[in-house]
Amino acid sequence: MEKKKARELILTHGTNSPLEIAAQKNYKVLYEDLGKNTWGYFTRINRIPCIHINNRLNYEITIFAGAHELGHGILHPGVNTPFLRSNTLFSVDKLERQANRFAIHLMIGLNEPEPGETKRQFLIRCGIPELFHDFY
Ligand SMILES: [Zn+2]
Repeated sequence: MEKKKARELILTHGTNSPLEIAAQKNYKVLYEDLGKNTWGYFTRINRIPCIHINNRLNYEITIFAGAHELGHGILHPGVNTPFLRSNTLFSVDKLERQANRFAIHLMIGLNEPEPGETKRQFLIRCGIPELFHDFY
């Protein structure tokens, strides 16, 4: 389900960049200092979907956090979702797991595993940090 949604978005928007897709969808992306452990969160302000991302993150985590929060906007409209935090990354919460799976599939883009390629090899080829491999 998350993979299909991610693919639909990529094809519709011509990119797998969560930040670019957010811009095309008129979501606001706000960079804020959220401290050491919080990566991002999603809100609607006057009905405008807003992706909040910690401005302390490196590029790879910024993309993941953007993709995760975009996932909430797409998959969970009207639902209050928790803060994305490094210490609850492997949350068992259903919405969080869905957003993580959506994020990884967005980052994979339209790549497919080659015959004989392991999951790890495939995800490394797609530039996915190992920290996120369990979400595949
Ligand atoms: Zn979340």
